Amino acid sequence: MKVTEAFKKGKPTLSFEFFPPKSRDQEKKLFEVIAQLKKFDPDFVSVTYGAMGTTREKTFFWVNEIKHKYGLEPVAHLTCVASTGDDISRQLEELEKMGVENILALRGDPPEGQAGFIPPANGFKLAKELISFIKKRKPSFCLGCAGFPEGHPGAPSLTADTDYLKQKIDAGAEYVITQLFFDNRYYFDFVKRCGKAGIKVPIIPGLMPITNLKQIKRITEVCGATIPGDLKIGAEHTLSQARELLKIGVPGLHFFVMNQAEPISSILTQVFPR
Ligand code: FAD
Repeated sequence: MKVTEAFKKGKPTLSFEFFPPKSRDQEKKLFEVIAQLKKFDPDFVSVTYGAMGTTREKTFFWVNEIKHKYGLEPVAHLTCVASTGDDISRQLEELEKMGVENILALRGDPPEGQAGFIPPANGFKLAKELISFIKKRKPSFCLGCAGFPEGHPGAPSLTADTDYLKQKIDAGAEYVITQLFFDNRYYFDFVKRCGKAGIKVPIIPGLMPITNLKQIKRITEVCGATIPGDLKIGAEHTLSQARELLKIGVPGLHFFVMNQAEPISSILTQVFPR
């Protein structure tokens, strides 16, 4: 089922994001985490795509498991990093054969140690180019894209950032999943900016519970999200964010699970109106 179908159900969507683990132990754990979180009946489950295309096989492995072993709807992340147009075409064929209908189309982050994004030869330098390419090659895929409530760190201004997002929607993205944020005001302002720019697609807030301060600092350094001074480890902060967002009437909640069933389980048992 396409993600866009889930928005028609008349209730907020629920989705989870996993990353493909590196070790056997972590893989074993992820099988358990997916089984534990399946009981919350997510509308879709996305799998990240790592630096330099190194996780392509693993991303596709988990996407396939999620679809065929767990019977959940997968969203495969695809990036412009280290892929030519021909590589992307092959990946689209592979996903289509698996029965995957949803792709989150991204530019991708440069690999660790590399300062900026280097567009591959015969590839794409922006997510909007990847989106246009997929729309042309395989229009049946339902495409999502990334949005940045605090602005992408590489964008010259919030206005430019919103214009760039509009270009991704015009190229064919049908919904937005946001980067994590810890203060809902960033999301509310972002949605307002998007509305003014003529962006009408659902904008799903991305939430990440704080389980490890060091990890959060590393992630926010890359994505530019602000850490509030009074942020505490645990589910409480995300729980109150989720409560407020649902009250205001967001189209869905997307959780960056970091491959841990807790604290997502404890948040969902308290807030999600299933
Ligand atoms: P783009 O929209 O192409 O933007 C890239 C840069 O170019 C930005 O600085 C933007 O301001 C600028 N830009 C955009 N359009 C224009 C234009 N027309 N003219 C000039 N400049 C422009 N990364 C991964 O590597 N793998 C993943 O699986 C992954 N999953 C993610 C999931 C979510 C929900 C989110 C929010 C992010 C994810 N990322 C992932 C991170 C993402 O790849 C990075 O944030 C990346 O730096 C930007 O990707 P984008 O798709 O937004 O790129």
